[in-house]
Amino acid sequence: MAATEPTTVAPPAAHEGILRRQSLRESAARTYARSLPIVPVRARGLTIEGADGRRYLDCLSGAGTLALGHNHPVVLEAIRKVIDSGAPLHVLDLATPVKDAFTTELFATLPRELAEDARIQFCGPAGTDAVEAALKLVRTATGRTGLLAFTGAYHGMTAGALDASGGATDVRVTRLPYPHDYRCPFGIGGERGAELSARWTENVLDDPKSGVPDPAGMILEPVQGEGGVIPAPDTWLRRMRQITADRSIPLIADEVQTGVGRTGAFWAVEHSGVVPDVMVMSKAIGGSLPLAVIVYRSALDLWRPGAHAGTFRGNQLAMAAGAATLTFVRENRLAERAATLGARMLGRLQGLAATHPCVGDVRGRGLMLGVELVAPDADGPHDGAPPPAPALAAAVQRACLDRGLIVELGGRHGAVVRLLPPLTLTDEQASAVLDRFADALTAAQRTRHQPLTSDTGPSR
Ligand code: PMP
Repeated sequence: MAATEPTTVAPPAAHEGILRRQSLRESAARTYARSLPIVPVRARGLTIEGADGRRYLDCLSGAGTLALGHNHPVVLEAIRKVIDSGAPLHVLDLATPVKDAFTTELFATLPRELAEDARIQFCGPAGTDAVEAALKLVRTATGRTGLLAFTGAYHGMTAGALDASGGATDVRVTRLPYPHDYRCPFGIGGERGAELSARWTENVLDDPKSGVPDPAGMILEPVQGEGGVIPAPDTWLRRMRQITADRSIPLIADEVQTGVGRTGAFWAVEHSGVVPDVMVMSKAIGGSLPLAVIVYRSALDLWRPGAHAGTFRGNQLAMAAGAATLTFVRENRLAERAATLGARMLGRLQGLAATHPCVGDVRGRGLMLGVELVAPDADGPHDGAPPPAPALAAAVQRACLDRGLIVELGGRHGAVVRLLPPLTLTDEQASAVLDRFADALTAAQRTRHQPLTSDTGPSR
C-alpha cells in the first residue's frame, strides 16, 4: 500500500476494545481469531493493515481463498461492474449472464475429459456444502451409502447437519491410510509406503469379510491441507483412480483448497493426469467471496429436482469475482508461477532444517507449504519420526505475528506451520516472508522452555 493512502487507523483503545468485545460476545468455537488478535481494516495484495496501524504479510490468505491476494484490481472491477449494471444480487439458482460467464470460464479450466461431459451444481456458499452435495450425488447415483475416506482428511464441518436432516441416511465411513512420507502408517514412507496404502485399500474392497460394504464413493484431497500439507504421490492417485474405476466407485476429488493454481497446476489432479468423477470446488473460485460448486460427469446426474437446494446459491458478486480470478490465473499462468516460486521457497525452508533440528519435515506443492515442528530429542510415536511439537508451533506462529507475518497451523497435532501465500507473490515478498519466518523460528526456539499461555488449537 502506498504510504500516501489515507488510513483507517483506530486509536489503540478502539483496537483493544474491539478485540475485548469479540472475546466476550463471540462463540467459544471461534478459531483464527484466537491466534491472530488483529483487527483488519485495510488490505491489498499480500498486506493487511490492522486497526492499530500495524501491517502484516498475510500467508493465510483467507485459508487459501485469496489466489490473487486481497482486493486485486480485476476482482474489484468485476464486482463494481455488476453493481453498476443494476443486475439483481440475489437470484436463487436462476440463470443470469454473470452465472453463464462464470460457468463458461470454469469449464474452460477443467480437465478436457471432464469438461466435455460435465454438469455443475451450484451449492450453498461454503466448501462443506459442496462436499455434502457430492456425497448425496454419489449415494443417489449408486444406491449405496458407505463412503471411503482417508486418515488426516478435512472436508468441512457439516457432517452433523447431514445426519440431523430428515430423510438422511447414516454415513458409514471407512477410513483408509493416506500416504504420508514422514509419518508413514506402515513406518517405511516413500513409494513403498504409498504402495502399501493402495494395497490396503484394494484388500478392504475385495475381501468379502472386510466388513466394508460396497461404497457409494471415495473422497480424497490431492494434497491434504488441514491434515498437515501432505501431497499424495501421483502414482498413488493413479492407483486410487484405477481401483475405483475397476469397481465402479465414483471418485470425488476435494479441490476446495488445492484448486485454482495453488499447487502448481490449475487443478491438483492434473499433476497425476487423474480425471475424477466429481470435483468439489470452493474458496478461490469465488475470488474472495463465498461460492461453492460441484462439477461431475453427466452419468451421475440422477438426483431429483431440489435434491440439493438452498437459498444462497446465486451470489452474483462472487461469480463475477470468481470468473475474473479464474481468467487472471489462466491468462497470467499463475499455476506455473506457483510451481516455480513454491519450489524455490520449499528449498529455502528445507535449508532451515539443517540449522534447526526442531524442523522435522518440510513439504508441499506449489504455494501450499508446510513445516512440521518436532521435539528432536524426545521418544517418538511408532512412525519413525520424532514427536510433533504443537506448543513450539504455536510459539512460532506468535513470533511470526510479532514480526508482521500471518501464518496458519495445521496437521494432526497442530504442529505444522502452513504458508498459503497468494499466487501473485513477488520474489521480493517471498524473501521477506522467509526472512521473517526464519527469524521467528530462531526466536521461538530460544524461548521454547518458557511456559505457553496460548489457547490456540489447529484452526480450519
Ligand atoms: N475441503 C477442504 C479440502 C478444505 O480445506 C476445506 C476448508 N478448509 C473444506 C473442504 C471446507 O470448506 P468450508 O470451510 O468453506 O466449509
